[in-house]
Order: sequence, then C-alpha cells, then structure tokens
Amino acid sequence: MIRQYSGIVPKGDLLLIQKLCDKLKGKSFIHVNSTREGGGVAEILQRMIPLLKDLGIDARWEVLEGDATFFEITKKIHNALQGNREKFTKKMWEYYYEVNRKNKKNINLNADAVLIHDPQPAALIDFRRKSSRSGKKIWIWRCHIDVAHPVSGVWSNLKKYIVQYNSAIFSVSKFAKSLPIDEFIVTPSIDPLSDKNRELTDREINEVGEQFGIPRDKPIILQVSRFDRFKDPIGVINAYKIVKKYNDCRLILAGSPATDDPEGEAILNEVRDYAGNDPDIHILLLPPDKHKEINALQRMSDVILQKSIKEGFGLTVSEAMWKEKPVIGGAVGGIPLQIVHGLTGFVVYSVEGAAFRIRQFLNNPDMAKRMGQEGREYVRNNFLITRQIRDYLSIWYCSMNKGKHVLEL
Ligand code: UDP
Repeated sequence: MIRQYSGIVPKGDLLLIQKLCDKLKGKSFIHVNSTREGGGVAEILQRMIPLLKDLGIDARWEVLEGDATFFEITKKIHNALQGNREKFTKKMWEYYYEVNRKNKKNINLNADAVLIHDPQPAALIDFRRKSSRSGKKIWIWRCHIDVAHPVSGVWSNLKKYIVQYNSAIFSVSKFAKSLPIDEFIVTPSIDPLSDKNRELTDREINEVGEQFGIPRDKPIILQVSRFDRFKDPIGVINAYKIVKKYNDCRLILAGSPATDDPEGEAILNEVRDYAGNDPDIHILLLPPDKHKEINALQRMSDVILQKSIKEGFGLTVSEAMWKEKPVIGGAVGGIPLQIVHGLTGFVVYSVEGAAFRIRQFLNNPDMAKRMGQEGREYVRNNFLITRQIRDYLSIWYCSMNKGKHVLEL
C-alpha cells in the first residue's frame, strides 16, 4: 500500500517513514477518538490505520462510546474550548468522567503508544496503568480544535487530564498552551489515494451531478462541512446572495451528520429555512461515508469555500486545493496555513470579503486556474498523509528515547 504513494508524495517523507519503521516495527500504537464516521478526525483515522498496519506497526483504532447526554456535554466542552460561553455544572463533569471510566472496561489501552484524540476521551489517561507510567509506553493527547482562547474554567478542568500525558500535539502553533509536558505542532493531512481525493472520470462526476439533481449550466460555489455554526453556513448563503446580484451561479452546501455532534440537525433546519426556495441553492445531507460523492461535488465546482469563523484545521481546504480548485477560507485556525493569501487562494474576514473574492475568481478564470495549480503543489509538499505519519512516528520515537542525544538514536 505505502508503495502506491511513491511518485505522488515527497520522497523524503517516505524515506523517513521507512527509517522510523525499522525502529518501531511490531510495536503497538492505539488511537482513540469518539466517532467512527463524520468529521476530520475519523476521516484521517480511516485511512491512516491501514497504512500503519501495512508499515508493520500493530495499529488499532478504538472509539469511545457515549450516550446522547455525554455527546451534548462534550459538544458544549468543544464549543467552550473554541471560545463560546456555555453553562457547566459539576454533575456534567462527573458524567463526562464516568463515561470515560466505563469505556476503560471495553477499550484495551495496553499499547506501546496511545494517541487520544480531542477532549471526549481525554480523561482515559486517569486509568492508565501504573506500570505504563514509567518506562517506554507513551501517551499523547492530540488536540484537533482551536483552543487558542478557551473559556478558562473549561480549559482548567480538561487540563487536569492533559498534564498527565507525556506530550500534547496541536494543529497550529497559536493553539499550543503553556503546559508542563512536551508539545508538538502537527498539521492534519489528506490522503491523495482515498475515494475522497482520488482522480475521478468525467462520467463519475456527471453521475453524481445527476444523482443530486445539480444542473451544470452555471458556475458552482461549494462548501462541504458539518452543519455547525462555527462553519458559518448562513454566512456562505449571504455571500452567495451578494454574488448572485452580479454573477449567475449555484450554491451547494453539503454536509453530513457525525455521531459526536448532536447540534447538526437544528442547524441544518435553520440553514434550510434561511435558504428559502431559491432553486439555485442545493442543500445536501449525505451519509458520512459518501466520499466519492463529496469528491465529485468538489471536482464539479468552480469555487470552493470554507468560510469558518472558528476552525481546527479545515481538511476541506486541502481537499479542494488538491483538486486544483480556487479556495476562499475564513482567516481562522489552520485555514491560513493552507491558503497562502493571493497565491493558493484567499483568506477572508467577512461575508462581503467572501463575496468579493468569489466574484474575482468567477470573473478571472485564468487566475483561478493558476491559483488552483499552486494549491495542489502546496498540498503535495505539506498536507499529505505520509507527512503526518512521519510526524506521529517521529514524536513517538523521540518520546521513547527522551533524554538521549540525537546521535545515539
Ligand atoms: N465531510 C464529508 N461529508 C460531509 C461533510 C464533511 O465527508 O458531508 C468530510 C470532509 O470532506 C472532510 C471532513 O469531513 O474530510 C471534515 O473535516 P474538517 O477538518 O474540514 O472539519 P471538522 O468536521 O473536523 O471540523
């Protein structure tokens, strides 16, 4: 499998992965998150676990199980970590801890390296075996969300757990906190060979257009994301409405539910109401495994938006850039790391800014094409899955050998 990436991804990443696997082969590496499908974390794990196995690492992926109450609490934690004021009670934190405790019984956490994704399963660290606290077993907390300006009480509650890990990984340097453990910055990545990103034939693209009843008669503007206020779907509709006065176009808002995101349905209804009965706005709710369909929607679009007002990284941006699409994104979280303003797309700060840039792309197809091509190369060098595997293995290996001089490794 990993061989198939040769010629697509940077050669240096493959060489480093090979070297690291010489040292780590046969060791166990477990990832824990809170949903099998929906959202960027599941998207990466679905692809990364088989690749790690192919490399000879004994990789496993476990999913924390919770009920509706748990996910309502953890969504509030998520929102508060991204800066929203939310009401918390002591009972809620107890419930959060209790669900983690119950999961400990079903999840085998005995591994050489344990990577816990996001706040939902963070408390599992409390159940780490005493014997694994010393020695070479490594526990890493991987934060995918924007914790630059969290509501402080919520962060301090979570921090109790985070400080027990060997290290923490953030997606963007400004998210890193002052912690007494090692901290690393690792940007997420996309898989160029997955159904989400592989090349599609025109026929495959057209079939998806027909399946969703999307005529290809005018330029298409697209945003793919969970129905979440931080993704600003209403702002996208407002930008489209401004553009529509001057440039005839269609808007597609495509989203899917995620089991760990209970707010999706309410926001989808708001978005539907707001869109009214404009026949050129297509709101698509897709099951989370419709990767080829999302791929085709991205490929049939002329301009792709990720107009978030808070964002962890925003994988959809790299997905669009890999397909050589001109992109416009909110200047938040990891989006400016992907969009080099004026070179690989535009970052924007308002609805009006988004509308202005959409029109600029629609009216200058040569510029849009050039930026799309730049975008693909930028993703190739920075945001493909092999680079992220390289980073995870490096952090694991360095943590195992902490204190040793680099020449001894
Ligand atoms: N996604 C999808 N179907 C949808 C909406 C999103 O497959 O209807 C995928 C999208 O292609 C991307 C991931 O879910 O791979 C979203 O990751 P991102 O980092 O953009 O946002 P998150 O949901 O993790 O906040």
